[in-house]
Amino acid sequence: MEKIKMTTPLVEMDGDEMTRILWRMIKEELILPYVDLKTEYYDLGLEHRNETDDQVTVDSARATQKYGVAVKCATITPNAARMTEYNLKEMWKSPNGTIRAILDGTVFRAPILIKGIVPYVNKWDKPITIARHAYGDVYKNTEIKVPGPGKAELVFTAQDGAVIRETIHEFTGPGILQGIHNTEKSISSFARACFNYALDTRQDLWFATKDTISKKYDHTFKDIFQEIYDSEYRERFQELGIEYFYTLIDDAVARVIRSEGGFIWACKNYDGDVMSDMVATAYGDLSMMTSVLVSPDGVYEYEAAHGTVQRHYYKYLKGEETSTNGIATIFAWTGALKKRGELDNIPELTAFGEKLERACIKTVEDGKMTRSLASISTCENPVVLSSLDFIRAIRETLESLL
Ligand code: NAP
Ligand code: MG
Repeated sequence: MEKIKMTTPLVEMDGDEMTRILWRMIKEELILPYVDLKTEYYDLGLEHRNETDDQVTVDSARATQKYGVAVKCATITPNAARMTEYNLKEMWKSPNGTIRAILDGTVFRAPILIKGIVPYVNKWDKPITIARHAYGDVYKNTEIKVPGPGKAELVFTAQDGAVIRETIHEFTGPGILQGIHNTEKSISSFARACFNYALDTRQDLWFATKDTISKKYDHTFKDIFQEIYDSEYRERFQELGIEYFYTLIDDAVARVIRSEGGFIWACKNYDGDVMSDMVATAYGDLSMMTSVLVSPDGVYEYEAAHGTVQRHYYKYLKGEETSTNGIATIFAWTGALKKRGELDNIPELTAFGEKLERACIKTVEDGKMTRSLASISTCENPVVLSSLDFIRAIRETLESLL
């Protein structure tokens, strides 16, 4: 087979630890033999981030804005232990946070469903995609531990000096206080990212807040979504036969559990944090969760939802055999290749991405898998493979599909 040609480069963001090892295996075994791969390579491995004072992360995000599609390997977010492990100049910020701040995007996470890996909620036949608003609320809060009696007030001073003042509480004893915010700009981009992604993937969009209790804060989220839907998206949704549906968060949770899946669930920042872990776990395995950052102007960055799988990497360094599942990282590549194919009108590239995804699923359904999948699979006698042998097994399946 002749290698598939590309016209525009993908932005390739390499990463850390076990996923960096998988990254190379995936490219060598599953991509390079079939695609005349064009990438603009950025090494986001922690050592190189440290060498460049994290400039490489900023550069990779700018390149993503330029080219429109990126594929990212999992990266270490440094903490105190990493400072010594990598002898860092500074505790560099989370690359995902930096990239998200530049692209102003929303993260969509969806599980990969496979026969034999049965969701804990047995009616969930189709994936549920969680769209998490990634700005503000409790993640950018200001808190006070109230020492004793006194009056707490919420004060806003406008640029022209006008003041809005509300009493929060008259404390008669010690307590706690929290101030949170969001902006219309961020909520609007979140809404547009969700509507665009629903159109793109032809799925219904659900959104829920607690607007009955939070009549200004949460209600503003509800209003902004509704206004943008009515003025910009309603017709296109109707043409595709998909729906935008708003309800209260507690009602949404009940409906989600009773549903068959197959929709996008847009969540405020905290709800998304909590619900994405619940949904991921309920579908079976963290290593089967895909993730894509979509910016309001239609820029896409694909990655796996899991981290760098540190524990497996230390085994690998000791020369021990690992059984790390590369599927979510492969799906980051296929997501990016399919999107590039779609944008550049290269149907062979899109078709290749789809076949590689099918090869991953078929390999597991044929009983060949990594250890964590085998532990939850209903397959009778699963063959447990090492990280590399699993990727080679996927290649064999792929060859049979091409
Ligand atoms: P992790 O990499 O997500 O792994 C946690 C555990 O989940 C693993 O120890 C493993 O369980 C299991 N697991 C995750 N992915 C797997 C896979 N592909 N195949 C098999 N098992 C898998 O989280 P972590 O080890 O707590 O974090 C390591 C580093 O990742 C941290 O430095 C963190 O900053 C970073 N991180 C990066 C991102 C990102 O770049 N998007 C996201 C999250 C975390 P067992 O050990 O039980 O086998
Ligand atoms: Mg969380």
